[in-house]
Amino acid sequence: RLISAQPADRQEDAIERALRPKRLADYVGQQKIREQLEIFIQAARGRAEALDHVLLFGPPGLGKTTLAHIVAAEMGVNLRQTSGPVLERAGDLAALLTNLEPHDVLFIDEIHRLSPVVEEILYPALEDFQIDIMIGEGPAARSVKLDLPPFTLVGATTRAGMLTNPLRDRFGIVARLEFYTAEELGYIVGRSAGLLNVDIEDAGAFEIARRARGTPRIANRLLRRVRDYAEVKAGGRITAKVADAALTMLDVDHLGLDLMDRKLLGAMLEKFGGGPVGLDNLAASVGESTDTIEDVLEPFLIQQGYLQRTPRGRMATPAIWRHFGLTPPGAAAS
Ligand code: ADP
Repeated sequence: RLISAQPADRQEDAIERALRPKRLADYVGQQKIREQLEIFIQAARGRAEALDHVLLFGPPGLGKTTLAHIVAAEMGVNLRQTSGPVLERAGDLAALLTNLEPHDVLFIDEIHRLSPVVEEILYPALEDFQIDIMIGEGPAARSVKLDLPPFTLVGATTRAGMLTNPLRDRFGIVARLEFYTAEELGYIVGRSAGLLNVDIEDAGAFEIARRARGTPRIANRLLRRVRDYAEVKAGGRITAKVADAALTMLDVDHLGLDLMDRKLLGAMLEKFGGGPVGLDNLAASVGESTDTIEDVLEPFLIQQGYLQRTPRGRMATPAIWRHFGLTPPGAAAS
């Protein structure tokens, strides 16, 4: 998959870090959560307290990690980063927590993948800034309470529904990140082009933005691939026409759907008559995991009205039949 929503490798990772806005004022879009955070951060700073725990959810590449770093920067504290699957034992989390400084931000990505034992440790840490750790083994083992400095947990997850209720209840601030508009992404592409010294016209930036699945990570990645194309084929300048030619070469169509999207939708139409089809069947027919379909592919397709979730399974909408040049069932042939 050329245009996946995950960072592909370390070089990609480094570029992403370079393009990441550092302050709330530079964070484009997501107006509601930005306004809320501005108030909560200012209030916490005014009282010289740690910010309340923050849960961010939404599909990959929408800016959860970026926002966690911004929260730490605005609070003027350090950020420690880890992820749910990395914290295997209770001791892993205890080590992180006991090394925090007052008001620090602990960022846990993929927080829905914490193991139950680690989650148990987290509850009192979040609520009372205390942890219970076991010292010794066997009959001599005893539990010791340790005080922690007040800190802020920022948790990120692709699906809020995957969190246990007791964990979700411990976040004072819960925000769902939305897909970005083409205008917002156009602005992000223009800013990234400036940082990367890319020669781009507004119309070129907008063409990339329009076809980036509402996702900043994909917009930035497409920008870099379109730049390659422009340098080799078009004298280096990204116009709307150059962007269109490059994106077509990259198999990103005019709706911004990539090969994987079209494979999924194509299978729904051709193998399942447009649905309803169960998630497991759909996943097997395109050779993807149900997680990838639910976390990465579906949210955008649903938001754009190309796919629907019904109690009987997934269904293609008339818009997508037409996009594939087909007549939706029940519609009069023209
Ligand atoms: P997530 O953690 O949700 O997967 P990231 O925070 O890693 O997403 O964001 C991916 C990339 O997209 C970042 O490198 C950043 O440059 C860019 N980005 C994300 N959100 C924004 C935003 N609101 N404004 C500008 N750039 C953004």
